[in-house]
Amino acid sequence: MFQAFLIKYGEIGVKGKNRYVFENALVDRMKEVLAETDGTFHIIREQGRIYVEAEGSFDYDETIEALKRVFGIVGICPVVLTEDHGFEALSETVLDYMQKMYGDKTMTFKVMTRRVNKRFPMESMEVNAELGGRILDQFPNMKVDVHHPDVILHVELRHNIGIYSEVIPGPGGMPLGTNGRSMLLLSGGIDSPVAGYMVAKRGVYIDAVYFHAPPYTSERAKQKVVDLARLVSRYTGPIRLHVINFTDIQMYIYEKCPHDELTIIMRRYMMRIAQKLAIDTGCLALITGESIGQVASQTVQSLAATNDVCTLPVFRPLIAFDKEDIVTISKKINTYETSILPYEDCCTTFVAKHPVTKPRVDLIRKSEILLQEEIDQMMERAFATEEIIEIK
Ligand code: ATP
Ligand code: MG
Repeated sequence: MFQAFLIKYGEIGVKGKNRYVFENALVDRMKEVLAETDGTFHIIREQGRIYVEAEGSFDYDETIEALKRVFGIVGICPVVLTEDHGFEALSETVLDYMQKMYGDKTMTFKVMTRRVNKRFPMESMEVNAELGGRILDQFPNMKVDVHHPDVILHVELRHNIGIYSEVIPGPGGMPLGTNGRSMLLLSGGIDSPVAGYMVAKRGVYIDAVYFHAPPYTSERAKQKVVDLARLVSRYTGPIRLHVINFTDIQMYIYEKCPHDELTIIMRRYMMRIAQKLAIDTGCLALITGESIGQVASQTVQSLAATNDVCTLPVFRPLIAFDKEDIVTISKKINTYETSILPYEDCCTTFVAKHPVTKPRVDLIRKSEILLQEEIDQMMERAFATEEIIEIK
């Protein structure tokens, strides 16, 4: 029944010149996701509206699924587009639409007309009243309710005419590329994929870094991270995944530093490495899946001690989320099932029995002096041996 979709997007705060930046980014991303579907589509922009029109046959559900992954889209409205052959022809198309969509359903409705084409010979109020009357005549189970209707029938009078009544929710947010690029610290857990998704949803392109520690972490643990990056990239577009061998650094910290400080010092080195990668690749911030109190390394004191080595902003979108809420999002974006596969990540191999939960930054800095002999070369080697995986 439908050959086209009207795309609703958030317009608040997006005015003037920015509006074009926003719309261009939105349309670019729509083209990308639609190119992965079976159909051929044209994107038509006119007077503050974006339409997707299918040429020939296409898979309706697949198309909706694709558009639901485009940040910035607030609603997807399957729309019947028809040429303007006057009111009588419009009225027939509308009755046919109501028949196919709702048949003899008992429901309330109202007609809402937008008359953009001022040459259409009737005012929008008149069109509302006339069409409403004809629908009432034809469908005895339907009633008008102008305040809380079950169905709002939208009629858009332009150079052609659009008729729609269903709005399928989109993800909201801002189109990718409208807010620069950031580096996600991506582990195999539940949290970091969600964190990446959330920041990308605000228009930020994502790259990622994964620290592995062979042979303590397996090839399968790494593959799991690659799989997670691929799942996240369905929303965020291509991700460049940097895989950093962290084994030597981790062993060295283990050898030299007090064991109750291991995790914090390790995390500080992860942040330092991620930050250098970020700066080298034009990323403006770091992203982690940290959340206050979740584990010993995420108490407020621990977060402060980790943050101490960062000069770039660190985005922690899950900071005040309960685990349950994070899980809900991870299920929604389809990363949960992969995240709970039981492969060790490098933090679980070297955890102390009793890690400090209230680290003091001055003491941690002092402990790191114990590493001064070799840590710089080790960092150099970690950068030099990085593996880059392009996730598309
Ligand atoms: P997650 O579920 O995201 O793994 P977590 O609850 O297991 O998080 P931690 O292991 O303390 O928490 O890690 C906190 C954050 O540090 C992660 O969300 C992630 O951003 C980053 N991180 C942890 N381990 C790694 C790793 N091996 N590679 C890259 N980033 C990591
Ligand atoms: Mg983890």
